[in-house]
Amino acid sequence: MGLKLAPGVIYGEAYKDLVSHCKEEGYALPAVNVIGTNSVNAVLEAAAQNRSDVIIQLSNGGAAYFAGQGLSNQDDARVLGAVSAARHVALLAEHYGVCVVLHTDHANRKLIGWVEALIARSAEERKQGRPPLFSSHMLDLSEEELDDNLGECERILKLLVPLEMSLEIELGVTGGEEDGIGSEYDAADNAKLYTQPEDVLAAYDRLNPIGHFSLAASFGNVHGVYKPGNVQLRPEILKDSQDLVRRTHDLPGKSPLDLVFHGGSGSEKAAISDAIGYGVFKMNIDTDTQFAFAKAVGAYVQEHEAAFHHQIHPDTGKPLKSQYDPRKWLREGEKGIVERLCQAFGDLGAQEKSVAKG
Ligand SMILES: [Zn+2]
Repeated sequence: MGLKLAPGVIYGEAYKDLVSHCKEEGYALPAVNVIGTNSVNAVLEAAAQNRSDVIIQLSNGGAAYFAGQGLSNQDDARVLGAVSAARHVALLAEHYGVCVVLHTDHANRKLIGWVEALIARSAEERKQGRPPLFSSHMLDLSEEELDDNLGECERILKLLVPLEMSLEIELGVTGGEEDGIGSEYDAADNAKLYTQPEDVLAAYDRLNPIGHFSLAASFGNVHGVYKPGNVQLRPEILKDSQDLVRRTHDLPGKSPLDLVFHGGSGSEKAAISDAIGYGVFKMNIDTDTQFAFAKAVGAYVQEHEAAFHHQIHPDTGKPLKSQYDPRKWLREGEKGIVERLCQAFGDLGAQEKSVAKG
């Protein structure tokens, strides 16, 4: 209660305070994947409109896209695009008057180098007396043995802590596909779609002494939007995990773990509410905002078809510049994202909850 932070990108203690605030007040923040300034600005606009704080995140593919598809070295692009996005958000966030958490999404074993390169960039910033580039990074080694997963998370968390950054880890596999990660488990191996509370306790025991981490636990959630019925959502797994950690360590409060809900697109409101009740402070949303952008642009193109084929209308002879100007149709896409996010802020109970000083 009563938490007030300066608007802009937050990290370190301020980030931890915001996470606690979400859990105490019973709401969660949408974590929206962005791929360029259009999507970043739309997320900031939506957050300001809803007077909510927000999490902005980049997948490795989104980061590479941010740098440009024409850049020949896509490994460099992943790093440069993430840095570019972080600088763009850092410059603008405070002017939208909300607090923003900056985060990178799934990184499997092959992408650890990407995360390490970004950590090195943040270390450079810290050396110059500036904030880190990101509030937190994610490592997703959920396909690996628990011990290998946690060992690597431990190593990366030790790099993050001195920079006042946090780590998100994943236990159990989120179904579906995101940037090609996770697709091989699509409904094939259902047991892996549910995190085991004992594994969560093992993660807490190893990582909590080192520093702050959040946990993407799988409770049947899936990336993308599919026909219902494939997997059963079981948010009570989150509760069982919280209970086991709390009982084992005799901790105060019902939800000691900071949990993350992946695959929020297409989720029912009841499952979202349950998850928040069990300590979820972050819900990822990507597929639904992608569709919202595409749908709005598609509608615009349909309505102004001539402008996408001719510079001058073949029947009326009128110039069509004002209709094909990319600002017109990209703006429609931005408005589509804003509209979908208004629903997300509502579903998550985040409206009017911003902790940013007015
Ligand atoms: Zn995910």
